[in-house]
Amino acid sequence: MSEVLVVIDHADGAVKKPTFELLTIARRLGEPSAVFFGAADQADAVAEKVKAYGAEKVYVIDDAELKGYLVAPKAEAMQQLAEKSSPAAILFPSTFEGKEVAARLAIKIGSGLITDAVDVQEGPVTTQSVFAGSYTVTAKVTQGTPIITVKPNSAAPEEAAGAGAVEAFAPSISDAAKTAQVIASQPRQATGRPELTEAAIVVSGGRGTGGNFEPIENFADSLGAAVGASRAAVDSGWMPHAFQVGQTGKTVSPQLYVANGISGAIQHRAGMQTSKTIVAVNKDNEAPIFELVDFGVVGDLHTVLPAATEEITKR
Ligand code: FAD
Repeated sequence: MSEVLVVIDHADGAVKKPTFELLTIARRLGEPSAVFFGAADQADAVAEKVKAYGAEKVYVIDDAELKGYLVAPKAEAMQQLAEKSSPAAILFPSTFEGKEVAARLAIKIGSGLITDAVDVQEGPVTTQSVFAGSYTVTAKVTQGTPIITVKPNSAAPEEAAGAGAVEAFAPSISDAAKTAQVIASQPRQATGRPELTEAAIVVSGGRGTGGNFEPIENFADSLGAAVGASRAAVDSGWMPHAFQVGQTGKTVSPQLYVANGISGAIQHRAGMQTSKTIVAVNKDNEAPIFELVDFGVVGDLHTVLPAATEEITKR
């Protein structure tokens, strides 16, 4: 069976859930081999994680020398790995970095690229949701090795035992790829909550919060959920842009999405309409969000959420 390369999404060796989704998708296309850009001494722990989702091999590219630079060395490393392993497809997480490395790689190896797929089936045939979710596009790469970036929550991760054989890969990086260097990097302040795009439950607030996100955050914490926001809340300076859900924010697809004080504009829907169960709290019973929901509560979020939080905390 042909090899399918899957680039691991991780934070300092902690493998993120989208990687397991990519490995699940890769098994539809061939035999998954995971690619780890990171510290060599974290490789065994990473291999343990990814082999549970079917990774037969884990290529380890020690990034001690590369990580001071931006994405160009990673694209060069992936080019050399693709030339060595002739994969049937290469899958990246749809992160900013994943998309940039994928695009540079596509040019280097003369391959077609599809970004932001929300589903990938045998072929590989991809599904993308475009124009704020107004159209669903089915597409296929017709030249070279298909390179596909896949959005989080595009597949339910399914375990399957793989060999997880660790193999060091040492690319030779040209000086030309080392022309942009990182001077400083500041990790985002940890919130102690799950990552928005990976969370099983997302609780969001909009203009209806009036800038008071405390009921949203307390309710989210009672459920172990991530916090999201509408653009109106972000534009008002109440929440940072990293929390924005929607067309120009993040796309989430949790098991449960709770929209509070959010009207349900098309651009917000674009980022959350594929959530499995949608609940809205809105004081206007004609708010468009109610067209989309599985459960709706007509009421003031400042009353409804504290009451719900209290009930849940009691249990
Ligand atoms: P509003 O539309 O003002 O709705 C507030 C809601 O809160 C109302 O329904 C009201 O009834 C309710 N409410 C008020 N007080 C309470 C209360 N006390 N309790 C309960 N309910 C209450 N928007 C996004 O969210 N994400 C995007 O990524 C995004 N991208 C965009 C891109 C473009 C190009 C454009 C043009 C727009 C984009 N927008 C996006 C903006 C979008 O069109 C809406 O303006 C925005 O989503 C509205 O946010 P909101 O629902 O919080 O505010």
